[in-house]
Amino acid sequence: AAKAEGRGRYCLFVPAMDEALQKRQRLAQQLHLALENTVDLMQWYQPIMDVSGTKLIAVEALLRWQHPQLGAISPAEFVPIAEETGLIIPLGEWVLEQACKMAITCPELIVAVNVSPLQFLAPGFIANLMAIMARYGIDPQQIELEITEGVLLENAQHALKTIKTLRAAGFCIALDDFGTGYSSLSYLVQFPVDTIKIDRAFTQSLGVRENSATIVESVIKLGHSLGITVTAEGVETEEQRLMLAAAGCDRLQGFLLSKPQPAEQLHALLREMQI
Ligand code: C2E
Ligand code: MG
Ligand code: MG
Ligand code: MG
Repeated sequence: AAKAEGRGRYCLFVPAMDEALQKRQRLAQQLHLALENTVDLMQWYQPIMDVSGTKLIAVEALLRWQHPQLGAISPAEFVPIAEETGLIIPLGEWVLEQACKMAITCPELIVAVNVSPLQFLAPGFIANLMAIMARYGIDPQQIELEITEGVLLENAQHALKTIKTLRAAGFCIALDDFGTGYSSLSYLVQFPVDTIKIDRAFTQSLGVRENSATIVESVIKLGHSLGITVTAEGVETEEQRLMLAAAGCDRLQGFLLSKPQPAEQLHALLREMQI
């Protein structure tokens, strides 16, 4: 399109595109190194609580990359790069291993792990996952796998089969970022999941946008009628917590309750809560 708009335009665009591409390639190489040494990669944990905000139910494992020169890079930036380069497969395995290590130290705790659509649909995913679980001696009941609608859109039949197999093995499946993209209520009927996670955009529209409470309430009602547990993400205010509690939401996650934190800090929190 840029080319069709004339030579001048075309020339202006190329260097910028080049730079972005080069940056991505550099990051991909550095991520590869980080994964080999696993010094700058960390897994942090964010508590998921009941609606009163007092009982810890689970933690979500979240990747952190402390780049030696650039500082902290968001997973929202580097996970897509890992997906483009295929690095997401070894990275995803490392993520699962770290989650198992956390699960061993807290047998009462459910550890929720984000799984990229690419990883979820890759051949051998179930076999790799089961091998990791066996290596660490973790019961699948302790692990919740968070997938996004991307999984369901990509290859619905394969996704459905994989979800069913994993649930039969004892894993819980959570549908992440619910309410964004194309994700619709009809997915919930088609795909048997244990949990939906209402996206933080929805949570944060509570009390701000008109009708948002009604929408959230109907998502929760439908979820419940299908036997699905509902978690709200991105809860930042007491007002949001109260509205979610009134709407019948089951679990809350967000800065109001706790930010993601390194393993040592989470362990201190668990000791405090006597878990
Ligand atoms: P997600 O799975 O939806 O994770 C929730 C994100 O919301 C996290 O961002 C978390 O830090 C942030 N968050 C939690 N509570 C609040 C709040 O109250 N307010 C605000 N503003 N934000 C909140 P994070 O850690 O930057 O991760 C971003 C995304 O990167 C994740 O979204 C997930 O899609 C992806 N990701 C993170 N770790 C992994 C991983 O191990 N594997 C894969 N495949 N993706 C990951
Ligand atoms: Mg998630
Ligand atoms: Mg989410
Ligand atoms: Mg997300």
